[in-house]
Amino acid sequence: MYNNLQAKLLAESALKSLEQLKLSPKPENYRLWFEYGTGSIEGLNAELDELITQQAVINQAICNKLYQKYLLTGDQKDLDNACIAIHNLLNIMVEHLQGWDSSTDQFCKALERCTEKLNNDPSIGEIKSIIDELTTQATLALNSNKKIHSTLDSLASEISNLREDVDRLGSEAMTDSLTEVANRRGFDVALKEAIENSKKTAQPCTLLMADLDHFKRINDNFGHQVGDKILRFVANTMKNAIRGGDILARYGGEEFAIILPNTNEAGALRVAENLLNEVSARQLTTGANSEPIGRITMSIGLALYKNNETTESFIERADQYMYNAKHSGRNQVKTTAH
Ligand code: GH3
Ligand code: MG
Ligand code: MG
Repeated sequence: MYNNLQAKLLAESALKSLEQLKLSPKPENYRLWFEYGTGSIEGLNAELDELITQQAVINQAICNKLYQKYLLTGDQKDLDNACIAIHNLLNIMVEHLQGWDSSTDQFCKALERCTEKLNNDPSIGEIKSIIDELTTQATLALNSNKKIHSTLDSLASEISNLREDVDRLGSEAMTDSLTEVANRRGFDVALKEAIENSKKTAQPCTLLMADLDHFKRINDNFGHQVGDKILRFVANTMKNAIRGGDILARYGGEEFAIILPNTNEAGALRVAENLLNEVSARQLTTGANSEPIGRITMSIGLALYKNNETTESFIERADQYMYNAKHSGRNQVKTTAH
């Protein structure tokens, strides 16, 4: 839930930047400004901040260079260009439909209109409305011409795949694929926002760092796949135990972070103790031959945000307290370093 909201805000701000800079909202540009909004790639933000301070013209060539330098990785290539994909699809459809009877005229015209709009640097919002128009027209044509039923059917499903791609561009970058909670990048964005809110509203904000105890033994004794399954179990259990406004993230391998906005130390202590209880409540067994694994425990560090401390120091304190919980015997919460 949090990921979608965060992604929506970042998406809006990315689109605004593209509009202001008169850059095409093609996915690469969109992603570049989305990342800039998250502030998670230091070098990228430093370069863009410098250009903005110098009031330099940030053109397509500069965006391409920055995209290649900071963002061109294997998994992004999949989502590379929703615009090009729609284009190709339209070209194929226009070719296919031209020879067919007059009931497809309206649809051909709609396709041409959409192609024209795509050539005029549409915004993501406009791309969505183009997709909507295509969906409507495809449905109309579908009803009136049975001969092209199957082709249009597959067109409609291609279009809806593209819509999902466009929607996914935003949220995927901030979700951990194993546990489906926020990843480190999502955590960074959420923590920054929680601290800003806490300053604005003078409400407390607490951070829990929860590290699983002796997790290496689980992998050693039962294998990595069982380890992965347990990480998913822990993430789900914690997600169900916190409130809607709280944010759970996988901070690293077997370490989770929980941001508790508007929560003081006493409240956070109750949350942390509840999490310890919930996670350790179940006697786990391996799926295959039901070998007993036992209970999973965690060590939690709890830090209350101090006025004007840096984000790094806030995280570092929570981490230190977590290590203190480890040294004091694990399966407990600590809120100070001693
Ligand atoms: P401690 O109580 O001191 O935290 O002991 P520990 O064994 O949990 O800590 P250590 O840092 O020695 O080991 C962490 C282990 O977590 C080692 C690593 O294999 C495991 N781990 C980290 N990420 C993953 C993952 O994605 N999947 C699985 N299965 N294991 C992971
Ligand atoms: Mg551990
Ligand atoms: Mg650890």
